[in-house]
Amino acid sequence: MVKTIKNISENTFQALSSLSKTDIIDLLHSKGILGDDIRLTNLFKSDENNFSIHQLNEKDINFLIKVFSDELIIPNFHSFSEKITEITKLVESNCNGSVANYIPELKSVDPKHFAVSICTIDGQCYNFGDSETPFCVQSTCKPINYCIALESLGEAKVHQFIGKEPSGQRFNEVALNKDGLPHNPLINSGAMMCCALIKPEDTIAERFDYVKKYWSQLTLNRGPGFDQATYESEKLTAHRNYALAHLMQEIQAFPKNTSIENTMDLYIRNCSLTLTTSNLSLAAATLANGGINPFSQEKIFSNETIKDCLTIMSFCGMYDFSGEFAFKVGIPAKSGVSGAIMLVIPNVMGICVWSPNLDHYGNSVRGVEFATRLTETFNFHNFDSLVGNSSKIDPRRHFSNANFDI
Ligand code: GLU
Repeated sequence: MVKTIKNISENTFQALSSLSKTDIIDLLHSKGILGDDIRLTNLFKSDENNFSIHQLNEKDINFLIKVFSDELIIPNFHSFSEKITEITKLVESNCNGSVANYIPELKSVDPKHFAVSICTIDGQCYNFGDSETPFCVQSTCKPINYCIALESLGEAKVHQFIGKEPSGQRFNEVALNKDGLPHNPLINSGAMMCCALIKPEDTIAERFDYVKKYWSQLTLNRGPGFDQATYESEKLTAHRNYALAHLMQEIQAFPKNTSIENTMDLYIRNCSLTLTTSNLSLAAATLANGGINPFSQEKIFSNETIKDCLTIMSFCGMYDFSGEFAFKVGIPAKSGVSGAIMLVIPNVMGICVWSPNLDHYGNSVRGVEFATRLTETFNFHNFDSLVGNSSKIDPRRHFSNANFDI
């Protein structure tokens, strides 16, 4: 077996040796490995005219061999991308819904924006539309806030203050569960509670920096930005969220000594961070990849944190459409009122769709249609069987030679 793999590698290496730099880059592109991939900086920087694959170091060559021996999670990325573009174009014609208007700044966003970005656990990327236009993350920051709280305090402590059930009510309903706690970490009350749990002893500047550092790690320092205008406008109009925070304060739901002012400030700041779909798909890919950034290989969140977060996302991430979404689409997701939806296919890929027109639940109309068509086409629903006949496409690599002997 070892000999066979070695032969494949040698053949791949021989084939690569005869190609020009441009040919290699074109081929990489068809595999979803893009020109800004930090794993191949040496290749991208090399001199086009005097290029030889022998100039690259062992790590670079091993990575190229891995790509061209079809060892990435989506081996036929080209066909996969074509199918995704087909879906995306169908979805683009849907202009239903309207932009969120309860936060003044969100009213002025152009509803025509549309972007889809995908990043696999092996760092294969796909981008469509306005994938480099920044938007406010709004509630798509909530899974990350939850992960940060879990990382610092652990699951048991965090869930002393937050439940694990869908609320069955609007995301900003002034309502708590029967224990007087937020229903879950992905609705407003629960997200405020997560903010209250993040470094409460530090100053607001330090706490916000701490959160931003996580986003920088998730996005390879490509984000986040900050939308000052949205922050200011939300701060002035977040009466319902303040009501919720005061209710929680009154019944002592928060940990002792919680400052509502600081908690609300951190919450609104986090919602006002800006990212592009390509960056948010990277964060989603890290959630899909057990907390490890596919490019830097940095372990950002523990396996336990990821398991807890994806579980809650599976049934609480899509407002009061979450049950329907779990049934029909069947993947962990989180949507935000800016029209972004983060989708995670565990152990395969992260996806971000952005289109500002929302349905009456507050979910992006095109985002929900994209997700629905995605799992109608590919067997990505949590409960799709990987064996037996299916009309769905399975694009992922299977480890047919896996050795389970202990
Ligand atoms: N900042 C928004 C709010 O608190 C987030 C809502 C959302 O995206 O779900 O209402």
